[in-house]
Amino acid sequence: AKAAGAGTYRFFDSSLNASSARDVELLTRFKRAIRDDEFCLHYQPRVELQEFGLVGLEALVRWQHPEHGLIFPNDFIALAEDNDLIVLLGRWVIDAACRQIAEWRAAGLPLVPVAINVSPKQLKDSALLETVMDTLARYQIEPELLEIEITEGCFIEDFDTANRVLEQLKANGLRIALDDYGTGFSGLKNLKKLPIYAIKIDRSFVRDIRNDNSDAVIVASTISLAHNLGLQVVAEGVESKEQLVHLKTAGCDQVQGFYFKRPVEAAGIVEILRRGRFT
Ligand code: C2E
Ligand code: CA
Ligand code: CA
Ligand code: CA
Repeated sequence: AKAAGAGTYRFFDSSLNASSARDVELLTRFKRAIRDDEFCLHYQPRVELQEFGLVGLEALVRWQHPEHGLIFPNDFIALAEDNDLIVLLGRWVIDAACRQIAEWRAAGLPLVPVAINVSPKQLKDSALLETVMDTLARYQIEPELLEIEITEGCFIEDFDTANRVLEQLKANGLRIALDDYGTGFSGLKNLKKLPIYAIKIDRSFVRDIRNDNSDAVIVASTISLAHNLGLQVVAEGVESKEQLVHLKTAGCDQVQGFYFKRPVEAAGIVEILRRGRFT
């Protein structure tokens, strides 16, 4: 492990593969962490811009390492991707999200859809659909309460296979959103052909939206394009009132970001679930 500045603890180097004894040890450690439930999900609200109502939650995985404390996904997702452990971790995430929805329901709370992030390798796993549907059934959860966030990385190798899996998920009642929009190769074909209901504009376009005219133009055009294709638009990384006002004026439908709430553990979401809105 090496230090990576500003309080970030870097447990893994993202270029790791199981070539050295040390790496093999880390992989073994990672598998054990899945088995021992050292991972946890944090949740961040998604808010619509008409009445600031809560419309969804995004589940974001963290590793509660017994010695190193909370480790963020950017420090282990790439490693997991490289080693197919992402499929194992992905199954854990599907299960944990469904378990949480069932818990909130049992507590009598109003529910909103929970979105999970699914990586390209997971979409290639032929058992994904079955895993998702079995897990929903096991916790008696309607498919409408689970959403899938994918990135354009899913379509680089095999568009048709990825698209087919998504079509099946949609046919089974799950909604799919295209994440990090604008950072990939953003083929317009993706917008036209994929069974998605929304795009999430990457936060790199939101950050300077008030000062950087090209970001503002990109966001405005993206919103108009998406709306013309019948898609909803979610902006990520909204941290200030000014960004929020700009996005609302530009016709953006929903936002997510620190301005409303940082991702927090499940207990920290109960109040907003009950209240259902941020006004
Ligand atoms: P993402 O899917 O784009 O998730 C949004 C990230 O932006 C999260 O980082 C979130 O904490 C952060 N964020 C939210 N609002 C703001 C804001 O206002 N300002 C700033 N600066 N950041 C904000 P996080 O939780 O560290 O996750 C990073 C990435 O790791 C995610 O990006 C996603 O690609 C991946 N990831 C997270 N959980 C999972 C998972 O369960 N499976 C997979 N395959 N990937 C995951
Ligand atoms: Ca996401
Ligand atoms: Ca994103
Ligand atoms: Ca991302």
